[in-house]
Amino acid sequence: MIPYGRQTIDKKDISAVVRILRSPYLTQGPKIAEFENSLAKYCGAKYAVAVSHGTAALYLAYLASGLQKGDEVIVTPNTFVATTNMLLAVGAKPVFCDIRLDTYNLDERQIEKLVTKKTRAIVAVDFAGQPCDYRVLAKVARKHRLLLIADASHSLGASIQGKKTGSLADMTIFSFHPVKSITTGEGGAVLTNNAKFYRQLLSLRSHGIHKDKDGSNVMTEMGFNYRITDIQAALGISQLRKLNSFVRARRQVVSWYKGELRGLRGIVLPEELSGNYSAWHLYIVRVSRPAWRGPLRDYLKSKGIGVNFHYPAVYSHPFYRKLGFGKKRFRNEEIYARTSITLPCYPGLKKEEVHYISSCIKTWLQNN
Ligand SMILES: *Cc1c(COP(=O)(O)O)cnc(C)c1O
Repeated sequence: MIPYGRQTIDKKDISAVVRILRSPYLTQGPKIAEFENSLAKYCGAKYAVAVSHGTAALYLAYLASGLQKGDEVIVTPNTFVATTNMLLAVGAKPVFCDIRLDTYNLDERQIEKLVTKKTRAIVAVDFAGQPCDYRVLAKVARKHRLLLIADASHSLGASIQGKKTGSLADMTIFSFHPVKSITTGEGGAVLTNNAKFYRQLLSLRSHGIHKDKDGSNVMTEMGFNYRITDIQAALGISQLRKLNSFVRARRQVVSWYKGELRGLRGIVLPEELSGNYSAWHLYIVRVSRPAWRGPLRDYLKSKGIGVNFHYPAVYSHPFYRKLGFGKKRFRNEEIYARTSITLPCYPGLKKEEVHYISSCIKTWLQNN
């Protein structure tokens, strides 16, 4: 089976991890700050706080934002559920906004009409690796005094007008799950230029404990253990060195797909807007007819191709419907969610494999 995504691990990654296993610190050692510094530097942000998962990064970013019960947060429905689950976890209410049909990102022009007295933040997701339009988002956020939080789980290594994701919002979160741009097994991070958020995030990550004037540990606020280990951070440092080449390899895969599938009737290829440099976390095509989607998926699976759906609209999940979401549907989101298919895309995918996948798609389309 060709999976839809997978990690790339080489000998250097393995020896970086083994070195830590033989060292005095498996966790709370020097590799964590080293990873954070490299990541912040890569993205052009002042601070990075590495944590145990992308989901933990979201949770801590929302807590550090001061989001609480009754606060409304404008968010895309086209995301992994963690983005909005963690809003629910802090008591905030996700207010869904429709997406654009060119990038499948939040439609910036539809945000303002959703702003109420209770709105506190906008959460943007750089879907499939393509950055949102942060200049417009930041303008809307400033005008209404909202925080702008980026879930850039898909877009580490991407940029907009030459500016890397990670420094384009008040706080940006990344995930290092194996299918993402780089991996630490499990892992995540929050990046920010704001010293107050930074201190808060460090505290929340580790039990709310600080050193007082005498150097003793005191707990001053609620906190947790969402630390990452030195084993993972060492892998992260090693992976980060290869991030640019990983993204280039993904972009190569995309250009192979384009060469194979461009102009084919019945299928819509994803677009990269000018000025955008996508990290291509996912390569998602859309079929012209919703009725084709299931059968095409089943056919490709029967051919050993691990296609997937990313994502059903968050509000359509049973849990969200039970909470009363999903009564209001959104035009573009509904079109997208009914017609999209994720094809395999990762740095190690070979040209022959892209050719094979494309040929299977062509065969199916010809027979239907
Ligand atoms: C992967 C992902 C997350 C969660 O990351 P984990 O590291 O798996 O917890 C959050 N948001 C989006 C959009 C993701 O793709």
